[in-house]
Amino acid sequence: MSTDLAAKIRDVPDFPKPGIVFKDIMPLLADPAALKEAVDRIADWAEPRRPDLVLGAEARGYITGGALACRLGCGFVAARKPGKLPWRTVAAKYALEYGFDSLEVHADAIVAGQKVLIHDDVLATGGTAKATVELVEQLGGEVVGLPFIIELEFLNGRERLEGYDVYSLIKY
Ligand code: AMP
Repeated sequence: MSTDLAAKIRDVPDFPKPGIVFKDIMPLLADPAALKEAVDRIADWAEPRRPDLVLGAEARGYITGGALACRLGCGFVAARKPGKLPWRTVAAKYALEYGFDSLEVHADAIVAGQKVLIHDDVLATGGTAKATVELVEQLGGEVVGLPFIIELEFLNGRERLEGYDVYSLIKY
């Protein structure tokens, strides 16, 4: 039986700052049927793209990203905020509402030619996803798809990812 995944997303107004409606995936993660359905549906979409690795963005992208990697028979790569990874890293900067942030991956996490699926919980403006695309490509990897649980269509994240294969389970 199919679960209403959208019913498992909690809207939290004015978090983390006024004017932002935070899409909280914790109720979905806590529900066994919803969690399984979300991972299975993304894995079914991803399987024909034959990824070798799933790259998850800090921090919520790790939760379903790890489950996804396991179901697909892939390895998992963590993209982290600067200074968190212990080994040699490569970095990509991205714009925030005010200023910049960056993400890093280990320099040996992706071998040239590997096919990489980039995953996160929410696609908003696309800045985070674009930075992870740059990380994969800096290391010679090939981005074979970008599946998300939630897409905030009004923020046009897909436009920043033009030319890439983007998928989402729930659109707002
Ligand atoms: P962006 O780089 O603008 O596409 O933002 C995506 C990142 O920020 C993801 O890692 C999301 O987890 C988080 N994010 C952005 N907007 C929201 C939102 N409204 N609700 C929950 N997470 C969000």
